[in-house]
Amino acid sequence: MTTPSLLILAGDGIGPEVMAEVRRVIDWFGDRRGLAFDVSEDLVGGAAWEVHGTPLTDATMAKAQAVDAVLLGAVGGPKYDDLDFSVKPERGLLRLRKEMDLFANLRPAQCFDALADFSSLKRDVVAGLDIMIVRELTSGVYFGEPRGIVTENNERVGINTQRYTESEIARVARSAFELARRRGNKVCSMEKANVMESGVLWRQVVQEIHDAEYPDVELSHMYADAGAMQLTRWPKQFDVIVTDNLFGDLLSDLAAMLTGSLGMLPSASLGAPMANGRPKALYEPVHGSAPDIAGQGKANPIACILSFAMALRYSFDQGAEADRLEAAVQGVLAQGLRTPDLMGPEGGTPVGTSGMGDAILQALDASLAA
Ligand code: NAD
Repeated sequence: MTTPSLLILAGDGIGPEVMAEVRRVIDWFGDRRGLAFDVSEDLVGGAAWEVHGTPLTDATMAKAQAVDAVLLGAVGGPKYDDLDFSVKPERGLLRLRKEMDLFANLRPAQCFDALADFSSLKRDVVAGLDIMIVRELTSGVYFGEPRGIVTENNERVGINTQRYTESEIARVARSAFELARRRGNKVCSMEKANVMESGVLWRQVVQEIHDAEYPDVELSHMYADAGAMQLTRWPKQFDVIVTDNLFGDLLSDLAAMLTGSLGMLPSASLGAPMANGRPKALYEPVHGSAPDIAGQGKANPIACILSFAMALRYSFDQGAEADRLEAAVQGVLAQGLRTPDLMGPEGGTPVGTSGMGDAILQALDASLAA
C-alpha cells in the first residue's frame, strides 16, 4: 500500500496558526499509531497572491488534484480587500472546489457536552447532539441559467434559476446514504416539493436511489421550512440531512449555531471517487481567517483539528482513530480548558492556540495508556 498523501494549504490570518497544531496531530498519528502521511504544503489565498500574483497557481491546483486529501486553513483578510475580484484570496478556494468538482459539502453539527451552555437553545435540546448536513455544493440556484438583472416593462427584474439534473441529485443522495451507513443509518431529505418542480424531482430521485441501492437506510422527506423549525425544536431527531445548495446554505448555518463557537466547526467537501476509490476531498474549518485575532496565539485550533478527524474518517477509513481524536478534544474541553472564544460565564482554564494543541496531544497520549 502506498502512503496516503495530504496537501496542506494553511492560507491566511489564523490559518497557519491553527494548521501548525494540526500538523502536530498528524505527526502524532504517524509516530504513535503507525499512520504515516506523505504531507506536502503549499500556498493559497493572499499568501499565494503575495508570492505568485494569483491566489492559487496551476501547479498547486494540479497537486490538489493528485493528492488523497487537501487540508485547508482559511483565506482572506482586510489586506486584500482592494484586490481585483479575479485575484481575491477567496477565488483560490472557489477554484479548488470547482475544479475538484466537490459536490457534497458535509457540515457536522456536534455538541460537546462541556460546551452545551454555549448554545442559544436549552442544554437538554443540544447536549450530545451529533447530526450531519450534506449540502449539494456545485449546482442549484447559485449556478442555474438564466441569471442576471434585466429590464422588462420599464422596470428591473432580478433572475436566478433553480435547476437540478437527475444525476446531480443522485450523486449527492448517494453521498448522504453512504454517510448514514457509517453513522445512525437515517437520512432526512429536505426540499420544497410543495411549491417547486425541482423539489418534486429531488424527492423522486432521492427515493429512487434509496429504494434501488440503500433500502437498509431509513429515509424520510421534509419540506425545508418545516426542517428549519424541527432543527431548532428537537435537532436530535436527525442523523443525516441531505438538501440542495440554497437550503443547505441556510440550514447548515442554522445547525452550526446550535453548537456554539465558530472555532469548533469542521467541514468536508467531497467529490467523485478517484481511481483508488477515495473521494476527491477538501477538509477545512468553517471559520475564516479571523484577522481580528490573527498573530496573537489566541485562535482556537479545534475546528481545524476536527477537520483532520473528518479526513481520517472519510478519506482514510480510520473511523476508530477519528473517534480517538474527537474523544481527546472532548476530554480537554471537559477538563475546562478554554481558548478565549470558548470562555463563557462559567469560566475555565485559559489557553492559547498552542496550549490547546499541547492538551489535545496529551489527551491522545493518555488514550494509549487507557
Ligand atoms: P471569521 O470566521 O474569520 O471570523 C468571525 C469571528 O469569529 C471573528 O471575531 C473571529 O475572531 C472569530 N473566530 C473565527 N475563527 C476563530 C477561531 N478558530 N478561534 C477563535 N475565534 C475565531 O469571519 P469574518 O471575520 O467574516 O471574515 C474574515 C476573513 O475571512 C474575510 O476575509 C473573509 O472573506 C474570510 N473568510 C474565509 C473563509 C474561508 O477561508 N473558508 C470563510 C469565511 C470567511
